[in-house]
Amino acid sequence: MFHYKTSLKIAWKPCIEAKLTAQTKGMNIIALHGGLDTSRSRSFMEILERAALDGFVLLAEGRVPAVEAVLNVLEDSPNFNCGFGAVLNMDGEVELDASICDGETSRFAAVAAIRDVRRPISVARRLMEETSQVILAGDGALKFARKHGFPKDNCISEEQLDAWRKARESLARGEKPAQNLYTGLAYHGDTVGCVVWDGKGLTAASSTGGCSLKLPGRVGDTPSLGGGVYATKLSAVVCTGIGESFVETLTAKFVDEKIAGGAHPQQAVELALRRLAELKGAEGGILAVDAQGRIGSAFNAGQFPVVVMEEGRVRQGFEPVNLRRALFAH
Ligand code: ASP
Repeated sequence: MFHYKTSLKIAWKPCIEAKLTAQTKGMNIIALHGGLDTSRSRSFMEILERAALDGFVLLAEGRVPAVEAVLNVLEDSPNFNCGFGAVLNMDGEVELDASICDGETSRFAAVAAIRDVRRPISVARRLMEETSQVILAGDGALKFARKHGFPKDNCISEEQLDAWRKARESLARGEKPAQNLYTGLAYHGDTVGCVVWDGKGLTAASSTGGCSLKLPGRVGDTPSLGGGVYATKLSAVVCTGIGESFVETLTAKFVDEKIAGGAHPQQAVELALRRLAELKGAEGGILAVDAQGRIGSAFNAGQFPVVVMEEGRVRQGFEPVNLRRALFAH
């Protein structure tokens, strides 16, 4: 168990100086993460890289098609906590949240607690493009999806079902389940998110199964504008971690405000994580890009795989800053 170091003030000094000088003005950027406490093994990173490439191919059609393509790859993969293979709620169902926010057009759309749809980010895109409404939840979201041709999909993987059974057995014995709340498993994949800068505008998108053993109907920060996702003309931000703490602190919006105030995205995400730890004692991972194509990414947990693609090329050796030691004492 980690405890927040209470003596820390919200102050910032750069952890990796090189990040601050790496400006990529004029280049297009696709940056994505595979969630908190996710594996950074080669096989996971390769899926993230493939997703980035799919997004890059569609960038010519627009930022929204690009983020959708990125997240579809991850929603189809059983390795991440989204789409197929997402964590199960207390009743043994998969309920998914997903959202897209386009900063240039101020458009936002989300689906929440939707069942039996493998690619909820595509439902959110359809909602954005075909209606003026912004959030659909539960049965209404499902009805909309079916009406727009999304087939009934099984999203429950054998691995997650097995993990859920074990967790329920632990609960029945009065024990705390051993499963990781984010991933449902030990070092498995988690919530995914993507930010895009195409030289003209910024877009953010996220897709998740939420937290393992959540109450049926629970909605996290992924469809919460300003909580776990945000985009303006100045920044695009996606977050991962226990959603309630992001919703209650409007963390994604805080990152945008810092960038609007002149902060480098790296400074903004680190300040946001410190604030999150101070206000909530919470773990998290944040990824942001600004309108100069500068990236910010930091986390304070075990793992946070991030891939950055510039002009279709993966930036080699990129690693988010881990603030765990700085923020928490054992
Ligand atoms: N933020 C997600 C939620 O609480 C879970 C996660 O990112 O791990 O719904």
